Parts: sequence; structure tokens; C-alpha cells
Amino acid sequence: MHGSDLVARDRAVVWHPYGAVGDTAPLFAVASARGVRLTLTDGRELLDGMSSWWAAIHGYRHPVLDGAVRDQLDRMAHVMFGGLTHEPAVALAELLVRITPPDLERVFFCDSGSVSVEVAIKMALQYQTGRGRPDRTRLLTIRRGYHGDTSGAMSVCDPDTGMHHLFTGLLARHLFAAAPTSGYRDPVTDRDLADVERLLAAHHGEIAAVICEPVVQGAGAMRFYPPGWLTRVRELCDRHQVLLIADEIATGFGRTGELFACEHAGITPDIMCVGKAMTGGYLTMGATLCTAEVADGVCASPAGAFMHGPTFMANPLAAAVSRASIELLLAGPWRERVAAVHDALATGLAPAADLPGVVDVRTLGAIGVIETRDPVDMTVIQPLLVDLGVWVRPFGRLVYAMPPFVMDPAEVSTLTGAMVEAVAATT
Ligand code: PLP
Repeated sequence: MHGSDLVARDRAVVWHPYGAVGDTAPLFAVASARGVRLTLTDGRELLDGMSSWWAAIHGYRHPVLDGAVRDQLDRMAHVMFGGLTHEPAVALAELLVRITPPDLERVFFCDSGSVSVEVAIKMALQYQTGRGRPDRTRLLTIRRGYHGDTSGAMSVCDPDTGMHHLFTGLLARHLFAAAPTSGYRDPVTDRDLADVERLLAAHHGEIAAVICEPVVQGAGAMRFYPPGWLTRVRELCDRHQVLLIADEIATGFGRTGELFACEHAGITPDIMCVGKAMTGGYLTMGATLCTAEVADGVCASPAGAFMHGPTFMANPLAAAVSRASIELLLAGPWRERVAAVHDALATGLAPAADLPGVVDVRTLGAIGVIETRDPVDMTVIQPLLVDLGVWVRPFGRLVYAMPPFVMDPAEVSTLTGAMVEAVAATT
């Protein structure tokens, strides 16, 4: 099938993420993906700078992950999880408990990152009811935050600037604290904390939990903040008997240079959401982990059980490939690889700082960001990036990359060279 035919058929019937009917935004037909490259139907090869939105950390078609899916397929593709259990789910849960911050002891499997946020919010509400604090029904969330596209997840995204502001009036009414403005390498200041402190002091009697993205605010901002902020928020939560939910869906499994971003701050959240890279990008799966205290509190609520149970919970194929992906990560020199990707991103993106249309260039772990003064024109920059042989998907004023950890420094340099050239030509 020629790419243009496929694109035409697609445009007639298919929605894309944040897409419009009759969209004429650039769309590229991909035929296959292997290693760190995507092959388009017209034969062009693109170096993948996106890891399919933080997920494909090992690249594509990794033999170990292909094998894990095939082996599991030979046994069982899916089975309901009510009243039944299976090895892939139990082994993955044991592994997650072992590698996540201490005291996270219970694992709830779900189908995506957004749903793991829904689950976290429900856990927090049920926990507070179970502990005799039923008035604590609101969440305190951070401006510029992004937590997903389902109703609960949308309700804790930034209501003014976020992608979901159209729905704000229909969603649960939560509290929004200003985001820290200091960068990852800066000391945390009292100013960074002031709004969280003020809102917790004034409203803790109605707050069930604080939810935040640890250290990296992703889709809402692509900004990195000081780990000390998280440490102090942990202390504030303890002081006010408010739970801390860490959304590690984008940051989990090594992306920031630590296995989980909470480790930069040395804290354990009460509830943690993971997804994306958990399956190595192979299948859709998320998980919500919580402490024994949270699990006990949830079950002490009048329901006596946690009231959630998706049809595809703990899908065996997804669980098997998740376990294989995590074991593959841990068996290799992932810290060195992420550090090598980081250094190549930092070196390669540095020249962008001198461009007149650029206000900031920043890197952390295997993430590199060019922030432009004005929004980039996607209809111009996206085809240009493809012509330069790379797959990078900018949004707003952000041209950023989070490549697979297995991309070698020379390839990262090609990627960053294309990003800088595209930004120079279009801003
Ligand atoms: N939370 C964060 C921090 C994310 O970056 C995302 C997705 O980008 C989500 C939640 C939602 O995950 P999903 O798209 O798998 O539903």
C-alpha cells in the first residue's frame, strides 16, 4: 500500500490524538519499526526521537520482547482477572514491588496510564473514607501538570492552560497550586513551595491527596524542577495527613537517570502510577502501586474492597512483555546508556541556545528540550524534520526528544542536528 493511499483512507475514517475531522495536518504512513528506526511506506527511514511517547525504551522489535509475547501467546492471550490469577501478573507484581521505592507493596493493574491515575484518585478517596475522613474529597494538583485524558485524570490537569480546559466546568473541582519555577539543578526555594504550603494549610480538611509528576512535568510543560521540592511536599503531606500520589507514567523505568524519578528526592509516595515504558512500548498496560497503609485504609471503607475492575485487567500478554522489558532493562548497563544519551543530547542541542527564536534548552536523563519563543508551526516543522530523517513530534513551543535508551551517541547527534536545523529554519 502506497503511503499516500493509506493517508487518504485514514483521513476519511480515523481520529488521531488531538486530531480534527478533515485534518490536513501532516500525517505519515509507517510500514515497520526496528531498532531505533521507523520505516515509512514510501521507504524512508526515520531515526526515532520519541520512543513512541516515552514507551519504546529498548527500541522496536527487540528479540527478547518479541519472544516474550510469542511465548505467552502460545499459552494464553487473555483471561479475566476476577477470581482467576496467572503467573505473568503475579511475577510482574512481585518485580514491581521489588524495584519501586520502599513500602509500595500492593499492585493494581490497569489498561493505560490515564486509568492508573483514575485508580489512584479512587484509592485516595476510598482511603480517606476508610480512615474516617470522608470530607477529604478533593485533590491538590500542580499547574502545568498533565495526568491523562479520562475524566478523573483530566480533572487534575491544569484547568487553564492544559489540553482539557474546555471540560473544566464539567469535572470534579480540585485545587491547583503554582508549579515550582526553579530548574532541576537549582536549589529549591520557599517561593517554589509557597502555594502548595498555603493551600494545604487552608484546605487540608478537604484534601485527600496531592498529585504530581515527580521532577519532570511532561506533556504540560517539559520542565524539570528541583528534587528538593518533592522532598518538602512529602513532609507537608505527612504533616496534614494528605496522601502523595506520584505520577511516574512518563518518568518511570529509567528515563530521568534514576529508575523512578522519586528516587532523585529519596521519597516514597503513598500511591504511584506507572505505564508507558513498563511494557517497553509493546502493549497497553499501567499499574497503580500503594503502601500497605493505603491498601488497609481502602478496604476499611464501607465498600470493604477497592471498587474497580477493568475487563482487561492484568492482561497476560502485556504482563509478560512488561516483565521481560523490566528484566531486560535491569540486566543491561541502563544507567550508562541513559547517561550517554543525555550527554549526546546536551552537546547536540547546545547550539540551539544561540538561535534568536529559542528561549531555553534543557536536558535531564534521556530527555532533551528546545523551548521556542513562539509556538512552532507543525505544518512546516513536522515535514521538515521528516525530510531531515528524524521522527520528532513538537507541540506548542516545545521541540523535544526522548529517544530509546539504546540509541548510540552518533545517532543522537544526527537527531539533535536535525532538531537544531529545523528550529533554526522555522523560528
Ligand atoms: N500521566 C503522565 C505524566 C503522562 O505523561 C501521560 C501520557 O502522556 C499520562 C498520565 C496518560 O497516560 P496514557 O496516555 O497511557 O493514558
